[in-house]
Amino acid sequence: MISVSEALSMLFTLVRVQETEMCPLSLSAGRVLATPIAAKLTQPPFAASSMDGYAINSIEADLHAQFVVVGESAAGHRFEGKLGAGQAVRIFTGAPVPEGADLVVIQEDVERRGKLITLLTEKDGNSNIRPAGQDFCTGDIMPAPRVLAPSDIALAASMNHANLPVFKKPVVAIISTGDELVQPGESPTPDQIIASNTYGLKALMEANGAETRILPIARDNRASLETIFSLADGADLIITIGGASVGEHDIVADVAASLGLEQSFYKVAMRPGKPLMAGRMGTSLMVGLPGNPVSAMVCGHIFLLPVLRAMLGLPKEPAKRLSATLSHSLPSNGPREHYMRASQKDGYIKAAERQDSALLTILSQSDALLIRPPNDQARAAGEQVEFISIS
Ligand code: AMP
Ligand code: MG
Repeated sequence: MISVSEALSMLFTLVRVQETEMCPLSLSAGRVLATPIAAKLTQPPFAASSMDGYAINSIEADLHAQFVVVGESAAGHRFEGKLGAGQAVRIFTGAPVPEGADLVVIQEDVERRGKLITLLTEKDGNSNIRPAGQDFCTGDIMPAPRVLAPSDIALAASMNHANLPVFKKPVVAIISTGDELVQPGESPTPDQIIASNTYGLKALMEANGAETRILPIARDNRASLETIFSLADGADLIITIGGASVGEHDIVADVAASLGLEQSFYKVAMRPGKPLMAGRMGTSLMVGLPGNPVSAMVCGHIFLLPVLRAMLGLPKEPAKRLSATLSHSLPSNGPREHYMRASQKDGYIKAAERQDSALLTILSQSDALLIRPPNDQARAAGEQVEFISIS
């Protein structure tokens, strides 16, 4: 058995980074920017007023000074002339500041009579002008790779990009295996259960940038599994669920090998999730997950998400670990790294009492995986422990 970090390192060596494509800006949120983009213009392109008021020359801005209003500058409609001595231009937010002006006096600080204004206050040091290029200048760079957040989309739009270079979404094929499985919504016979983690994994992968296909359930015989594998042709990542242990019905490793899987490893020293296999299968990366619902989901967080991020050109790093204070004691841990379902709040973390790897109710109530290193000693309440957020 290999450790979790060894398994992850081996998985990273199997990853091929996705090709890139251009994506319309309006569909780019959540995608990964593949190459840096440069601003195509300067923003703001001109010195702009940040308030409604009067543009004047600051040298003349004494208390009670008077100015003649000679025109108007509104957003999208600049004042074409140049300010002379004793002159002011009525100006609005976002409008270009006229030549000859370097101060916008807000309208509340002015008394106006006809074409004449009088300043009612002293200068306060605020010009109320946004200089040209205050936000960014032509050629300024948005670095890549990065997951495009809504604020990045706004910035890319402002930089005048209508389409963005992004990594293609990895196509992920998910194969459930088992004679006992039926799809949600069907009527199970007394010996059957519903394929569940299949849908949890689809949700997990899609929330993190993959395009997933749930294939028909493969039955526990070679012919069925071979047929379903053939449907996965062309996928960037093939995930199988179940059939990965050593029972007579666990045929995934055998069938995958006969279809060309170059198996990189099998079995990882972790709890839940020991029977995990991975390797390259033609153009696809194949990861075989254990069938137990929680095991499969935990492996999704620990292995599949980092792999997916690496396929999307993001740094090859494990799931981010945070720390919290243990709110109760824990017994010593065995030789396998244990990912305990847990809840954390206000810096404290509590492991669920029941840790059976078949309990989706407990997983659904948990927002963290509390990590027990292999052979960790018993821990007392108040000690710091590491966890991974799964909310
Ligand atoms: P296996 O690895 O095939 O021995 O499966 C281990 C356990 O997980 C068994 O109880 C299976 O019924 C269950 N199981 C396998 N695949 C799924 C699935 N897709 N959804 C829910 N349970 C599953
Ligand atoms: Mg099975």
